[in-house]
Amino acid sequence: MAKVTVSKVNKIYDNSFHAVINTSFVAEDKEFVILVGPSGCGKTTMLRMIAGLEEITSGKIYIGDKLVNNIPPKDRNIAMVFQNYALYPHMTVYQNMAFALKLRKTPKAEIDKKVKNAADLLGIGDLLQRKPKQLSGGQRQRVALGRAIVRQPKVFLFDEPLSNLDAKLRVQMRTEIIKLHKKLATTMIYVTHDQVEAMTMGDKIVVMKDGIIHQIDSPLNIYNSPINLFVAGFIGSPSINLIEGFIKNNDDLMFTSENFSLKLLPEHMEEVSAFKDKPVILGIRPEDIYDAQYDSNAQAPVQIDAVCEVVEPMGNEFIVFLSAGNTKLTARFDPKRYPEIDAKQTISLDMRKVLFFDPQTEKRLI
Ligand code: ATP
Repeated sequence: MAKVTVSKVNKIYDNSFHAVINTSFVAEDKEFVILVGPSGCGKTTMLRMIAGLEEITSGKIYIGDKLVNNIPPKDRNIAMVFQNYALYPHMTVYQNMAFALKLRKTPKAEIDKKVKNAADLLGIGDLLQRKPKQLSGGQRQRVALGRAIVRQPKVFLFDEPLSNLDAKLRVQMRTEIIKLHKKLATTMIYVTHDQVEAMTMGDKIVVMKDGIIHQIDSPLNIYNSPINLFVAGFIGSPSINLIEGFIKNNDDLMFTSENFSLKLLPEHMEEVSAFKDKPVILGIRPEDIYDAQYDSNAQAPVQIDAVCEVVEPMGNEFIVFLSAGNTKLTARFDPKRYPEIDAKQTISLDMRKVLFFDPQTEKRLI
């Protein structure tokens, strides 16, 4: 078991591209940490530096108390699981899983026990004599996981391990990896660009963009209290609605946009007091916008008129795309009533849930 400490790490590639910029975070012992961000943000580079597959330009990486900057990958006691499985095609599942142990000259009986235990854990005990080409994508990914498990590493590193799987299998494997983490009680660092994986799998999320860490926190804190516009927009699907406007504080505290005005709550005063007559961006998540007429949850008294443009019926909910003048809004309605397309639709906004951002610094007002 081990804690992983990344301290002020930079990576500048040979072509001078600064892929990871002054990055620090900690994965505590037994913690499941997710590195998430859009394509090209530097998350794979970060993971490869922890694994020792990529040199660090500056900074320090510790596994446990040991500085590993100059320690080769094979001596770091980590196991990495990749998106493309990287199985040996000419070997059976058993041989693939046993390979690293065989290299270490582990006794045969011990190898057998470890491979069979891992295979049982992953439900692939009956596939041990097959070759990788005789397996489905999900089964191959299980073998790749098994190969990592038998080594009993101090740290597991995952690089988008589920992206090659179809949607249903991805959901299933996601749960299996969560269970596996509980059973193995080992530190795991998991790279993904999928914000659903980030929200559902980890104890802690590290959100990256352009080589920089924007926020480190629990999934719910990241969702409810994003530090800036990027994090607010990246986490959550459909994305948070972001509306440009001004704060007015005459008789009532108001947010006024091009198309509508919203009365703010007294509790918002603290956040927006420095922004009187100044531009702000108001954020409201789709689930905090209700069908005013038909949804009994719509306690929020702040209502505006909109037009329903498109409805995506998901079964358990409707994703509704609305326009209020030029302002486009996305809402998640209870599927009580199919909203009428191109018809006027009164919506209510739960003002207790709104967030405010400074358009200049892009930071959330708190
Ligand atoms: P993805 O989700 O697409 O895999 P990522 O967040 O994992 O993206 P990285 O693979 O870490 O991103 O790449 C970060 C940046 O560094 C990208 O802009 C990439 O083009 C660049 N990069 C990666 N490897 C090299 C290299 N060997 N030389 C120069 N630039 C590189």
